[in-house]
Parts: sequence; structure tokens; C-alpha cells
Amino acid sequence: MANIQAIRGMHDVLPEQTPLWQYAEKHIRDVLASYGYSEIRLPIVEKTELFKRSIGEVTDIVEKEMYTFDDRNGDSLTLRPEGTAGCLRACLEHGLLHNQVHRLWYYGPMYRHERPQKGRYRQFFQFGVETYGMASADIDAEMLLLTDRLWTRLGIRRKVRLQLNSLGTIAERLVYREALVAYFNAHITHLDEDSLRRLQTNPLRILDTKNPDMKDLVTNAPELMEYLGEESRGHFQAILDTLDSVGIEYDINTRLVRGLDYYSKTVFEWVTEELGSQGTVCAGGRYDGLIEQLGGRANHAVGFAMGMERLLLLLETLHLPLDGPVQVYVIRAGAAAQTLGLRLAEQLRSAMPSLKLQLDCAGGSVKSQFKKADKSGAQYALILGEDEVLRGEVGVKSLRDATQAQQNIALQDVIVHLKAVNFL
Ligand code: ATP
Ligand code: MG
Repeated sequence: MANIQAIRGMHDVLPEQTPLWQYAEKHIRDVLASYGYSEIRLPIVEKTELFKRSIGEVTDIVEKEMYTFDDRNGDSLTLRPEGTAGCLRACLEHGLLHNQVHRLWYYGPMYRHERPQKGRYRQFFQFGVETYGMASADIDAEMLLLTDRLWTRLGIRRKVRLQLNSLGTIAERLVYREALVAYFNAHITHLDEDSLRRLQTNPLRILDTKNPDMKDLVTNAPELMEYLGEESRGHFQAILDTLDSVGIEYDINTRLVRGLDYYSKTVFEWVTEELGSQGTVCAGGRYDGLIEQLGGRANHAVGFAMGMERLLLLLETLHLPLDGPVQVYVIRAGAAAQTLGLRLAEQLRSAMPSLKLQLDCAGGSVKSQFKKADKSGAQYALILGEDEVLRGEVGVKSLRDATQAQQNIALQDVIVHLKAVNFL
């Protein structure tokens, strides 16, 4: 019978890959903490209605990408395709929004039924941040500074570029929408099938088309920026001024509309040219309107989500030296050495909490244990054979320097001896 395999687009992260994940996760957590963000942990499954109401019925996610199923009691549930909706649902449910300011982050898997390819999977991890209660452009700008700092910390600053746009308010967008529909109607014979459908449902998304034949048409379309009122323009300009003042480069991309319906004013993406068409590593913006849309009082919200797999693909190109192997390997031979060796290993772990020590638990001849010790990458083997036990000693042998002879150290001196070693 064939072995059962993982679901297409859902990947295992194998032990050789986890150090890089942990490296990224640690730096992200540290940077978020340095801006005063707190973690929130949320369920992976929510009511389907939540995503329909927040993400919007006529978006790619809700139309064709969600993993939706009926619970045993008949409720329609969905594996979360993103974190914003669930985070807001939780904060509304627990009364965290009224007259309060929050900076939150979450981390975990998201699920979208997309065509799997490099940088695009059906289960993928996002670090997301959401802030509530702040109207001023300061927070939009601070979020960009935070991400900029993160790229620098991770060593990929030169691989990503910031793209920015403003979508204005919902009212401004409605006026623009009419102008856009009129424009596309005047050129309706040039629209592809997808765009014809979007013309009816969500015309702004036509600007997001990946079809090269539509490029000219889209380039000549009216620009949303022209339809923004004074307040929206001022908000956008304030962000640009901050970025200029700290020297963060950006491109204003007037075609950046983002896939989700809930954005207003600021939208941004950090993009790389190193991952083909899956070039967006981090994306977000302001979504003031969503809170009311989900039944809360008028409020302010800004956030972003970062795709971990795409970030990891970028980090892999750096070939960082991470997380070395075990440092000490304990070999035991003969009945008397068994308990003694285990106790020695425990004593060493107590005395040197950051020492990476592995006790051979699979047995076999001393020779075969030495082979495993060597393969483990350890710098030193500790040998407790029958002779050593009789003498109350431990053999200490360098596995990396053949010129160093084995030393025999009295059992009670091993801790002091190892503490003096300069482990790599
Ligand atoms: P794309 O245009 O690439 O489909 P999106 O606009 O659907 O991205 P968002 O919903 O804004 O993406 O999610 C934020 C980030 O999450 C993306 O920028 C990307 O890094 C990551 N992401 C989104 N979908 C996937 C996926 N299917 N596989 C891996 N990462 C993803
Ligand atoms: Mg998408």
C-alpha cells in the first residue's frame, strides 16, 4: 500500500529548516516588542460569515480560495485565510476597542486554496500586526519604520522595496469607481473575461490584473489619487514626509489596490524581485471602515501581514550560519556506565544550561557510538567505558582535532574541565 502523503500545498518544515524559521521568528518578535506590540493568539477556525463580511464577497479569497466546511451541527466554518478578521472579531468580543489604543501581533498558519507554486501555498504562515484606535498618519508611518527596521535586522534590507498608495475614503472611492466604470465601459471590447466580471462586481480590482494585454488600458485609466479629498491627501503626504525625513525610499504605485475590500487611505507592499510573481513579502494598510462593518463603533485600524515562506526564501539566499550541532556526545559501555553516564549528563546540563549535550541512547559497541558521535557534529566525546568507571574517570576526546590525545579526567572534575572549553 502506498504511503500517505501530505496535502498538496501544505508543507512540513524539516529539522534542517527550523533554525532559519526560529531565527526569523525571534527577530520579528524582538522588533515588535521594541515598538510595544503584544501578542494575541486566535483560533484557526472561525464562522464563515466572519470572512464573508470582512474580506468581502467579491474577492478572490471568498469567491474561490477558502477552506469551508460544515461543522457536525451544521454551522458553516472556515479555516482562516488571513488574520485581520479574527483579530478584530476577538477584540470586539472582549471589549478591547472602545476608547483604547492597541498594538497587537499574531502568528500562525493561514489557509487558501490556491494553485501551489514557489512562494504560494495552501497552508502558509503569517506574522500579522493590527493596531486600533489611532487616526493619525503617525501610526501608518511607524509601521513602515518597524518593517524597515525588521528587514535591516534580518539582513535583507537591500532585497525589498516599499510601494505605497492611498485608496482614500469609501466615499471618495465611490466617486472614483463611477469614473473608472465609465472609462472601462468606453473600452469594453478590450476587457478580458475576468475584467468583464470584475467590472460588474469590483471594478477597482481590474487595476490589479496580471494580464499583459490589458497593461496599456490599465495604465491609461483614471487615477484614484486625483479623486482624493484634502484630508486623505494630507494623511498620505504626512506618511511620505516621515519616510523622507528618515531616508526610507519608496515608490508611489497608483495601481496598488490590494486584494481585500476593507482598506481605506494607506495601502502598502514590501516587494522583492527575487521571487518571481510571488514578490510581495509584506502587505497592509489602513482599514478604518472594517470595525463598523463588523458591528463595532467607528474606529481606526492599521495593520499588515507578512508571508513567512516568502521571507524564508529571501533569508535562504543569505546562507546564514545558524544553530550549530550538539557540542558534547556521551558514550557509555558496560552495565556500570549506564546510570553513571546518565547522571553525569544531567549534572552537566544543570551546571551548563546552554551546553548542547547528547547522551547515546541507542547503545552498540564503543566504536559504533564513536561513529555516531562524529556524525552528530559534536566537538567532544565523553567516554565512560568499563576501565574509566573502575578508575572513577571520564575520557574526554576531541572529535574535531585528531592531534589532541584523549584525556582522562576524574569524574568530579569534568564540569570544571568542560566549563573551561571554548565551545563553538
Ligand atoms: P498575492 O497577491 O501574492 O496573492 P495577497 O494580496 O493575496 O498576495 P495578503 O492577503 O495581503 O496577500 O497576505 C499578505 C502576505 O501573505 C502576502 O504578501 C504574502 O507574503 C503572504 N501570502 C498570501 N497568500 C499566500 C500564499 N498562498 N502562500 C504563501 N504566502 C502567501
Ligand atoms: Mg492572493
